[in-house]
Amino acid sequence: MMDDSLRELYQDVILDHSRHPRHFGPLDDATHQGEGHNPLCGDRVKIYLVVDEAGRIADIKFEGKGCAISQASASLMTDMLAGRTVAEAEKLMDGFLRLAKGEDAADLDGDDRERLDIMAGVSAFPMRVKCATLAWHTMKSALEHGTAAKTE
Ligand code: ZN
Repeated sequence: MMDDSLRELYQDVILDHSRHPRHFGPLDDATHQGEGHNPLCGDRVKIYLVVDEAGRIADIKFEGKGCAISQASASLMTDMLAGRTVAEAEKLMDGFLRLAKGEDAADLDGDDRERLDIMAGVSAFPMRVKCATLAWHTMKSALEHGTAAKTE
């Protein structure tokens, strides 16, 4: 279980990102995109990214609607993945999906781990895990399947 200070931090981060989403909007020249839907809650997320020739995520944006957790998680994710290489992004995605299930992710860097741990606080609320992981699954799908991706 989370202690009270982590729970407060978790709520602050969710509120901040859902009220002031980072990287929100369409991206016309996307090299990859994906769409995800969480039917349990009605959340929808679209992820757009530009991967450059060096394999770096040169730009990333999202659009979506749904509960605060789903949109905050998408915002936090785009904030963390912008500028990373695809390999780094895959490590972060896998790490977050493990943390959200309440598993460990010992291979993550300290700073990344701290930020992901806050969002992964959702593992204390099992009904909301699919809300928090929607954007991350959609991102994985976008990278794997490129421009025609749909995860529905
Ligand atoms: Zn939701």
